[in-house]
Formats: sequence, C-alpha cells, structure tokens
Amino acid sequence: MSALTLLFAGAVLLALLLKLWLATRQMRHVALHRDRVPAAFAGSVSLQAHRRAADYTLARGRFGLLQAAFSSALLLVWTLLGGLDALNVAVRDTVQPLLGDMGYQLALLAAFAVIGAVLDLPFDLYRTFVLEQRFGFNRMTWKLYLGDQLKGVLVGVVVGLPLAALVLWIMGATGSLWWLWAWVAWTVFQLLALVLYPTLIAPLFNRFTPLPDGELKAQVQGLMSRCGFAAKGLFVMDGSRRSAHANAYFTGLGAAKRVVFFDTLLSKLNGNEIAAVLAHELGHYKHRHVLKRMLLVFGLSLAGLALLGWLASSAGFYTGLGVRPSLDAPNDALALLLFMLALPPFMFLISPLGARLSRRHEFEADAYACAQADGRDLANALLKLHEDNAATLTPDPLYARFYYSHPPATERLAALRAQS
Ligand SMILES: [Zn+2]
Repeated sequence: MSALTLLFAGAVLLALLLKLWLATRQMRHVALHRDRVPAAFAGSVSLQAHRRAADYTLARGRFGLLQAAFSSALLLVWTLLGGLDALNVAVRDTVQPLLGDMGYQLALLAAFAVIGAVLDLPFDLYRTFVLEQRFGFNRMTWKLYLGDQLKGVLVGVVVGLPLAALVLWIMGATGSLWWLWAWVAWTVFQLLALVLYPTLIAPLFNRFTPLPDGELKAQVQGLMSRCGFAAKGLFVMDGSRRSAHANAYFTGLGAAKRVVFFDTLLSKLNGNEIAAVLAHELGHYKHRHVLKRMLLVFGLSLAGLALLGWLASSAGFYTGLGVRPSLDAPNDALALLLFMLALPPFMFLISPLGARLSRRHEFEADAYACAQADGRDLANALLKLHEDNAATLTPDPLYARFYYSHPPATERLAALRAQS
C-alpha cells in the first residue's frame, strides 16, 4: 500500500469522524437548550419559535449524519475500491475507438457527472420535498423541480463541456507548464461568469424585476448615494417560487453589478430594516471583501493546479488512489477527476480558517452598516430573518467556530448593540 493511499484513507476517515463528532455535539447542545429561550432573546423570540428552530436544526443534523456517511463511503468506492477505474475502462473501451481521445475524455467527465447527480438525487428530493416541506419552507412544485433539473443539465452542457474541452486541450498541448495556462483559462472563465451569470444564467431560473418606484426605492437610493454607490441595478427576485427562506445579495462586476432582494425579504422587513441589510452588503464592498475573497480563490486554484501539475505526471498518483492510468490514451480527464475527489477531505480539515475569515468580514460589514444606517434596525432584521429561517440561537460553540460563515446570533447582536 502506498503512502498516498494511507494519507488519503486517513484524511477521509479523519474528516468523517470530525464531521460526525461535530454534528452530534451540535445536536446535543441544541436539544439541551430546546425548552428555554436564551436570556438575551427572552423579550423578542417566543418559546414556540425557539422550539421550531431547535427541531429544524435537529432534523437537518440527522439528515447531515446520513449524508456525511454516505458521501465518505461513496468517495472510497470511487477511488480505492475501484469505481472510477471501472468507469474509466468502460468508457475508454467503448468511446475512444469511435470518437478519439478528446471524445473519450469528455465522455468520462460527463459519465462521472451524470452518475454523481443521479446518486445525489434521492438526497436532494428528500431535502426539498420532505425536510423543507415539513417545516413549511418548500414552495417548489414537481413541475418547477423538473424544469430546474433540465435547465441545470442544459447549462452544464452548454457551459461545462466547452470549458472542459478547453482545459483538456490545454493539458494535452501546452507541455509541462499546462497548469499555468489552465489557471489563466479558469481565472478568465470565473471573471466572465461574474459578468454573465447575473444577466444570462440567473434569469433562466428566476424572474428579476426592477425595484418599483416608491418610498422603499427612494430610501435605498438615498443610502446608496450616501455610501458612494451608483444606485442602479436594483432588482427584486421571485425567491418565493422555491422557498420561504429570505435573502438579499450583491452580485456581478462592473456594469453587471446589481443588488438583488428576494421578494420574501421585502415582505418580512420594513423599509428601515431593508436599508440596514443593504448597508451591511455595501459594507462588504467598501471593505473589499469580495475582491479579497476572489484573490484568495484565484491564489488557491493556482496552488491546486500547480500541485496537480506535479502529481499528474507520476503513475503513483493514479495507482495510489485506486486507478490504473491508461497507456494508450491521455490521462488528463482521469487526473482532473481524481484530484477533485481526493482534495475535499484535506480541504475540509483546513476549512475553519475560511469560516473564521468570513466571520471577521461579517463583523466588519455590520460595523459599516451601523455607521451608515441604524444598528438597531439591522439587529431587528437579523432577528426576524433568524426566526423566519428557523436558525438556532443556541449552537454548540465548537460547531459554530468550525462551520459558521456568519457569527452566531448572540455574538452578532451583542456587537451591534454595543455600537448603536
Ligand atoms: Zn454579510
């Protein structure tokens, strides 16, 4: 057994144990605090809402345990137990004689994606039509669900296949520095997606209507010009078609930049609260969080591709992860798939660093919102959204420190109160 096999199996096992341990800690902690609203929220959150949040967190926790166990087992089936090897041999033997090297490699990527999607389908269906349904969040109909799946496949074919073909071509044609060229292509693609996604892809799934003229629009525009933003591109999205969860986001780049409010958000918050939420989002821009995160992602993908460039040329990379490299066909698609499979367990172990950075950014954006709008409005908005999304007010501290991209409500509201 090679060192890589041991390292990989160890990481998969460690990541799984860590996931299960954290999830059980979280569930125990939430169950323990289910029957009492924390003192800080005693006046603003009802016991009924608090219990509903606990039940929702527990239901999702149980589902998460099952999903974590399944995906770790599946990962081992794909790699060390020979699943990807068998798929590779089958696709190579049938497709390569007909469509050549590129056809075979694209077929391998497509077959892997289709099998992965099919295996994920029961989980997705359960989450949407059972779990979310039970707590009253799901608004998705079967017709809409099937339509979404179909559009997702179409986008995957139209966008994913040419991109994959480009990367495979680069890997085959540009020599030992292919990973640098692949990184350039990947980075350009991501920048392009930032411009094209809000204007071309997102409208395939949702309807975006300009924020209607009126009091709210005037208030939002006033805030934006006060903060030094061009007050254009304000949209309302019909998020209520799929889910009762509420949200707002800032997206795009340059002229495609836009602010999107879910209709569910507008129906739940008053004008001042909406302005405070927007001020928080503007805070992310003012502090260049979006740019920093983008640069971090670009840097990490360069490091990842450089690592793959080094690994892909050694036979031990394939055999150590349970796959026999082909002798009379390119192994580039195989290398990409193996890398995508092998990386997540290792990334999971360092993911708390990213969560921590994200929480710091949230505090900074909150502070900006306090300076530009009323911190009490933001606190009220957060509390309403928390209650509405049935997010728990009593997470396990360690769980929150590992996973939470946003600070727990208690910490966030305490910081807001101190500033307003
Ligand atoms: Zn934020």
